[in-house]
This record gives sequence, structure tokens and C-alpha cells, in this order.
Amino acid sequence: MLTDSFNRRLDYLRVSVTDKCNLRCIYCMPPGGVEFLPHDEVLRIEEFVRLIGVFARFGVRKVRFTGGEPLVRKGFMGIVEQVRRNHPDMDLCLTTNGILLDEALDGLRQFGVRKLNISLDTMSAERYRAITGRDEFDRVIGNIIRAIESRFFDLKINMVLYEESLIEMDDFIKFFAGRNVTLRFIERMPFGDDYDASRFVSSDRLVEYLRSRGDLTRNHYKDTSVAQMYNFRGISGDIRIGVIPPMTHKFCSRCNRLRLTCDGMLKTCLHSPVEFDLKTVLRESEDDERLNDIIVAAVHSKPEAHRLGDPLEVGDGCMAIVRNRLMSRTGG
Ligand code: SAM
Ligand code: SF4
Repeated sequence: MLTDSFNRRLDYLRVSVTDKCNLRCIYCMPPGGVEFLPHDEVLRIEEFVRLIGVFARFGVRKVRFTGGEPLVRKGFMGIVEQVRRNHPDMDLCLTTNGILLDEALDGLRQFGVRKLNISLDTMSAERYRAITGRDEFDRVIGNIIRAIESRFFDLKINMVLYEESLIEMDDFIKFFAGRNVTLRFIERMPFGDDYDASRFVSSDRLVEYLRSRGDLTRNHYKDTSVAQMYNFRGISGDIRIGVIPPMTHKFCSRCNRLRLTCDGMLKTCLHSPVEFDLKTVLRESEDDERLNDIIVAAVHSKPEAHRLGDPLEVGDGCMAIVRNRLMSRTGG
């Protein structure tokens, strides 16, 4: 079992399988474009499978595949298939922008990837293009409906919180009410040098807005380690709402996460620039002993909390993200 210095049990691994993406979301990628990692730097299928095996032996019971966009990664379903074969009881999950989901739904179902988070920031095709840089709104909506209709997935729609999210709330609720999905609003985190703090909307502002629009009931017993859960009943319908406030209400004390980047680095905090190189050792030796040692040392040094919003703090290596990795490389 992996337990850090603050007695947090780390049993959830988020695995970024690629830094590549078929969208260019403004909050995730820099406007000047990104240079993708050379092919050789990115872990191969069997390397992901081996590393996930190492973490599983340490008691990790939940793996979420993310990216970049995981579904653009060649051989992605092969990773899922082998991980499922090796770890029949592992809770496997996926976060995707949904563009290529139609081709993946059967495989995800077959390999029991039940928890599916799809990112969709808007119900307007025009705003979708403005946020993502691509005209894929209709395709994503079509794929979300396919996923809903398959009645297999535990589906969450993730959106980054902007003032426009509030303006569009009725459209979201009208569309998703009665469809057994959770709408999750994530406070925007400051990735990259182009972060515009004036457009930040807090989760408290969202909650206040929802209260003004209908009945909002907190569902404490459904809270997850990161999300506050609510039931909302408004004129456009009823819906489950999750609020994820990494900026204004830190959830670091409940954090159970580790992150494996697509180039084989272990991160113990999304917001820390500190990384532990697993790839070099992975490629040097067939023996997992040295990997085990690095993982134990990394877990031991996991910072107590992030210091976003406190840019002058450096301290234990969990500082503001200004020069940290791109979100698309880390895996959100
Ligand atoms: N490409 C996939 C997707 O978009 O779902 C997976 C990777 S993406 C980095 C994972 C999640 O991170 C998405 O839900 C995205 O909205 C979120 N995200 C990206 N940049 C963010 C930011 N600056 N603040 C908050 N959430 C962010
Ligand atoms: Fe958008 Fe996800 Fe791609 Fe980032 S990784 S640009 S959030 S689709």
C-alpha cells in the first residue's frame, strides 16, 4: 500500500497515454501552439502495461486514462485490453473530449471501462469552436448521445467554469435532464503563461447562481475526493451537479492521486513541477526493484497541499504552475 507522509493512501493512478490532441482548448494549450514530444520519448504500450502492473502491486485500485486526448493514441485499446486482462478487478476509467468516442465505445464496454468523463464546455457550436479551435461540436454531441443510449457508462460531462457557463446553464440542463448524467463544473486552473485571471469564476459564484435559479440540495454522502455533489431542480429540469473547486476550496487533504505522464514521469501533485523519472529505469532493467524504490521515495515526498494562488511560495516544490508542464502533457 502507498501511504504518504500525511497519512493519505494513494490508490488512484491517472495515466496520460499521449500529449497529442485533436483539439486546442484555450485553457489547456498555449495559443502559439505546442511542440509534441518525439515518438521515442512517449512510453510504448507494453511500458504502460508494465508500469500499471507495478502500481497495482502497490495497491492502486483505480486507473484513469487521460492525455492529451487518449483516443488519438495509436494502440490505446490494446493498453486497456492488457491492463484489464492483468487486473480483472481494477476500476478502469477514461477522460476524453469525445470526438473519437464512437469508434471506442464497444471496446470500452468490452473491457469494463465504465466511468467515462466527457469534456464539453458549451452547448453552442460557435462557442465550442472558439474554445477548442475546431468544428467538432455536432460529432461530440452525437457521441455523448451514443454513450448515454448504450446504458453502460457512468457518465460525467466535465466543463471548465466561465461566466458563459452560467449564461448557458438552462441549455445544459434542458439537454441533459433525465439522461442520467452528472454535470461537473471545474474551476479553471492557471496553466501556462497566458492565464487571464480576470475571467476566473469561483465555485461559490456557481453555487450562488444555481440557488437563484432553483432548488439546490447538497448531497454530502455522494461527494467524491474532489467534487461537491448537488441535486438541482429548476424550471428546465432536474440534474446532478458536481462542483470541483481546486482553486478556492483545496481538496489536497483528501488527495489519493498519483500521475504517470506519457513520457514516463511520476508526479505526486498536478501542480508541482517535481517529477520522478520512471522511464529511464524502466528501459534499463527488466527488474522492478528500482522502480519500486523510486515510487516509494516519490510518495514519501508528496507535498501536503498545492500553493496555487500563492505564486511567491516555492517551499516544498508545490508552487504556482507558471512554469510547470502543459496540462495536455501532464494529464488532467
Ligand atoms: N483530452 C481529454 C479531455 O479534454 O477530456 C483528457 C485530457 S484533459 C487535459 C482533462 C480535463 O482537464 C478536461 O476535462 C479539461 O477540461 C480539464 N482541463 C484542462 N485544462 C484545464 C484548466 N486550465 N483548468 C481546469 N481544468 C482543465
Ligand atoms: Fe482540450 Fe483535453 Fe485536448 Fe486539453 S487535452 S486541448 S482539454 S481536448
